[in-house]
Amino acid sequence: MHTNKMKNISELRQDIVSGDWVVIATGRGRRPDDFAKQTKPSKPTGIDTCPFEGLADNALYVSLKNSEIHSISKKSYSLLRRDWFLQIIPNKYPAFGKGLCSVVRKNGPYFEEDGVGFHDVVVTRDHNRSIALMKTEEVAMLIRAYRDRYLQLKDSDCVEYVSIFHNHGPEAGASIAHPHSQVVAIPVVPPTIRRSVDGSEKFYKKNKKCVHCVMVDFERKERERIVYENELFIAFAPYASRTAFEIRIFPKKHSALFETIHNSAVKDFADALRVSLLKLYKGLGNPSYNFFIHTSPAFDSRTFDHYHWHVEIFPKTGIWAGFELGTGIDISTVAPEKAAAFLRKIK
Ligand SMILES: [Zn+2]
Ligand SMILES: [Zn+2]
Repeated sequence: MHTNKMKNISELRQDIVSGDWVVIATGRGRRPDDFAKQTKPSKPTGIDTCPFEGLADNALYVSLKNSEIHSISKKSYSLLRRDWFLQIIPNKYPAFGKGLCSVVRKNGPYFEEDGVGFHDVVVTRDHNRSIALMKTEEVAMLIRAYRDRYLQLKDSDCVEYVSIFHNHGPEAGASIAHPHSQVVAIPVVPPTIRRSVDGSEKFYKKNKKCVHCVMVDFERKERERIVYENELFIAFAPYASRTAFEIRIFPKKHSALFETIHNSAVKDFADALRVSLLKLYKGLGNPSYNFFIHTSPAFDSRTFDHYHWHVEIFPKTGIWAGFELGTGIDISTVAPEKAAAFLRKIK
């Protein structure tokens, strides 16, 4: 009996064939007939109706233009309002929120649990300046905010994974044009993370090496797929790119946990991310894209030292159609070697 159906913000349901989880999030309260009218992504919001203009009263975290981070008090609010560069606020339409922690319910042959967690939005101030157009120091502030919020959320009860991602452009699902990233803390380890952690572990057991380090070393030697490189980070088009112009950014030195990144390394990471996005911006004419951080979860208080954190950038150069959905096999229409050579040249 399900008397509490959809009382919470969302519900996680498990596919009992694949073991994968899905979220049924009805927080936006859209009715089934709303979908019929919406065949194209909605027009991006203009600055006059933008919900991210101005410092929010419920900001959880604020960085100032001079990169100082301030704890928020009533006293400092007028200063923050004047000088803020970045704010983290709770998502108005969260996919995860309140509920019962880790209570798995049976529903016939199926399993479900409450979508417990946190869903934050990381907003930079300028409505029209995407990450590609920011200064390295500004991108570094964004990365420090990701890291700091990650550290606050990862030890919360119920949290098994914290996903940090950024959607840019309507085709990438950014319904609000104002640059914003999202930090979502969820009560299960997502299927893609589980698969890559398992894959890294298998490789490590067999070869006594980190599979990601092996890839980074090979790419640095071969140089065919490198897009950009600085002292501490490397960006390359993956050998098995899932989409044309996909880019992955790795710290060259092995590290399983994104959240352990030092301020001294943040600058090189920010530089690699900014340059990669700028190359896509210039080379492909400001395409829509998604990027996300993949890092080792810390679930069951186990650590996964064989994992190697990184960022994956997916420009929207193709869509998942029948073949991809039906088989799980992506089709990339440009060879990664050609894509990298093209992006390398763009200054
Ligand atoms: Zn705006
Ligand atoms: Zn490694």
